[in-house]
This record gives sequence, C-alpha cells and structure tokens, in this order.
Amino acid sequence: MKSTLGFYGGVGSVTGANFMLDTGGAAFLVDCGLVQGDRFAAEQNAVPFVYSPTDVDVLLVTHAHADHIGRIPKLVKDGFKGVIYSTRPTKDLAAVMLRDALKVMEYEYERYGHEVLYEAGDIARALSLWKTVDYNETLSLPDGVTAHYTDAGHILGSGMIHLERGGRKIVFTGDIGNVPQPLLAPPVIPTGYHYLVMESVYGDRLHEQVAERTALLQHYIEETRRKGGTLIIPAFSLERTQGMLLEINNLVESGAMEPIPVFLDSPLAISVTDIYRQYREYLSPAVQAQIKAGDDIFDFVGLEFTRTVKESHEIEEEKGAKVIIAGSGMSHGGRIQRHEQNYLDDKKTTVLLVGYQAAGSLGRVLQDGAKKVTIDGKEVRVKAEIARIAGFSGHADRDQLVNLVAEGIDKPESVDGVYVVMGEEKSSLFLTQRLCDYLGLKAKAPSENEEVEIEF
Ligand SMILES: [Zn+2]
Repeated sequence: MKSTLGFYGGVGSVTGANFMLDTGGAAFLVDCGLVQGDRFAAEQNAVPFVYSPTDVDVLLVTHAHADHIGRIPKLVKDGFKGVIYSTRPTKDLAAVMLRDALKVMEYEYERYGHEVLYEAGDIARALSLWKTVDYNETLSLPDGVTAHYTDAGHILGSGMIHLERGGRKIVFTGDIGNVPQPLLAPPVIPTGYHYLVMESVYGDRLHEQVAERTALLQHYIEETRRKGGTLIIPAFSLERTQGMLLEINNLVESGAMEPIPVFLDSPLAISVTDIYRQYREYLSPAVQAQIKAGDDIFDFVGLEFTRTVKESHEIEEEKGAKVIIAGSGMSHGGRIQRHEQNYLDDKKTTVLLVGYQAAGSLGRVLQDGAKKVTIDGKEVRVKAEIARIAGFSGHADRDQLVNLVAEGIDKPESVDGVYVVMGEEKSSLFLTQRLCDYLGLKAKAPSENEEVEIEF
C-alpha cells in the first residue's frame, strides 16, 4: 500500500524534528520539536504547522530533548486530540522540560517580546493525552499499524521507533547515542526495515578525545585545586550533567581524586537527576551493577545540590577551589551567567566547555577566544582559561552512524530508502554520500516540507 512520508522539520538542521507518516487511513507524527540556536528560532517556532494538527491521530516521541518535544503543547493548543506515546522516562522528563521551557519563554517575552507558544494548560492537556510504553512492547495503532521502541542509547529513555504494516517496516532513529556514554548502554542496532529515517548531527565528523575525556576532566579539576580557583562547567541539564556527576563520582570514590566542593547549581538539572534515580533499569548494565553494589552514583563527598536562589548565591562564599556545574549549556541564560560574571575576570578560573556551542551563543564567543564579553548588559573581561573536552558528545559520530546501518542490513536491495535528517546540510549530505558509496543504499537527504511516497 502507498503511504506518504513528510519531512516538516529537522531537515537541513539539527533541531526542530517533525516527521509524518500518512497511511491514508491515519496520520502518525514522529516528534514535534523546537528550532533552537538560530537567531530566527523564535519566529520559526511560532509559524503554524503545515498540516492540520486536528488531523493527526498519533504522535510518537523519540526522546525528551526540547528539539524533539518543544512544540508538542503548541500542537495541542492548535487542535491535536490524538494519543501521544513514549517510554516512561521520556514522559516524566518531558513534563519537567516543557514546564522549564515555558518559564524561559515567559522571560524572553518580557525581555525581547518573543511570542509565548503555549500556556501551562496546554502542557497539562498534552500530558493527559500521553501514554507510556516499554522497550519492545508492541503497540496496536490505527489503520493496521503496529509499533515498538528500542533503546537509542542517547539520553535516559530515548528510543528508536519501529512502525510496521503488512510486512513492511520503517524505523525512525531519533537521536542516536555515542558509544560509550557514561550512563547508558549502546544503541540497539535496528534491523529488518525497508525504510530508515536517521539523524546525522555528526554525519561528517569523528569524535576526538573520547578515550581521554575522563583524564582530561580530572586534569582540569586538579589544575583548579592547585590554583585555588573555580572550575565552571556549563552543562546541558538533561544527560550531560548526570554524565559529568557520574564521572566525578567515580573519580572521587575510586580514590583516583581527592574530594573537592562540587555545586550542581540548576533546579532543572536537579529535577532531571531525580528522574534518573527513578529509572535505574534504563541505565547501562555496568551502572546498574554499580548501584546494586551500594553506590549512589549521584552522591559523593563534596557534592552539593543548590536549588534555591539563596543557596546559589551562597556558592560565592566558598573561598577555596571549587567546581560549579550549571545551565544553560551554551551560557545563553540560566545561573551559569551569574557565575561567569563573577569569575571570568579571574585568571584562577577555568571555563570547561563539554558540549556543542552554537554560533551566536555566549559559550561560542568564549570558545572563540573573546577577551571581553557582555553578560546581561554588564561588560566582563575574560582572564579565565577557556578549555574544551570534545569527547562527551551524546551523539554517534560519522563512523558509528555508518556502522549502525551496515550492521543492521543483510542486503542493500532489501532497503528501499534511507532518509538522512537532523543534521546541518553539509553533515547530512556527507553521510548520504557515504551510505550510497560504501553500502550501496538508496540514501537521500530530503528538503524541508518534502513529501515522498513509500510502499508501506
Ligand atoms: Zn537529543
């Protein structure tokens, strides 16, 4: 039977994932994310959906990053009344992430006049439509379609979505995890598909420093201890922060490193960490074994969670060497900005960048070596060392992406199409070329709002 696959977001761009499978009898949406990191993101997120949200029957969510879930309350506000599915951790994480995103939007409305996409009631309505499913549990969906999730190894609860009908199968990868990740098992290799819609964030690059990343982290902490200074780590609240905590936990508890005061200064990251505690069965077997042996992986000597504004300000009273982990990951908002205002002017400070810094963000300006920055209207001289560890990426790199496909297929002829999405154009085209040349696949990087007919 003929179905239509629509690419309505997340093409030519890492963010804004939004794909539709229309079987004629039912419309299935996969992810509904925010466009992020672009100067015009606020306007792009406010434009109406190109399809009617009222006509969508099912929304399947791969994982809880904002660029995959951030427009769901808008979808509901604009008329969606179907069913939402995800794994249990994804739903719990999404609730926390969406409420936080609303707070940020309300702040940006006051400051810049950017449109607020939805209200608290729309989040609540979305959650009331939202059902959960375990990995490998089969869902019976409208128009004879079945679906199941497998572990994508990207963040807690992340899943690839396998949709099947009449012996035909399409897999949406969502974001695919880097290997190894501190907390998670490697992604399960998808097999038996006729079509694959896959991410390509690092489709043209290899990750460096993966093997040395823990040693480098320890190096920057020890250097800070020696200088009696402050190590500032701007970290994304979901997954990266928990991964960093586990790394430091293991360094301290193995005796490889003396304890040092570490402040997790982010109410969002603290709430997310609580959800990680609830879903230990979603962590890697090695981490589960560590927990079973009695270790609380998010608790070690020196670690303090600072939830309130008062507690956050008290960090400044800690005079000796210390580590501050706070959001946002690109320093474009959040408590990290106050710490950067306080400490960038001090040559005993190191800012350690552990994630991608988008062009235009304060983090990118620092990474590019600016000697002076303006934070929240205040000019600050940069005397701090700006360091970077590339190996903590949460995404599979170029070779891992090609291997994920190579290991999952028997014969290239059995695959009717691979659609390479969720990457900047250069990256998507590079991966597309490799899949064609190395594996003999019919791969293609679709363009925005392109619709293709598939046999499904
Ligand atoms: Zn993601």
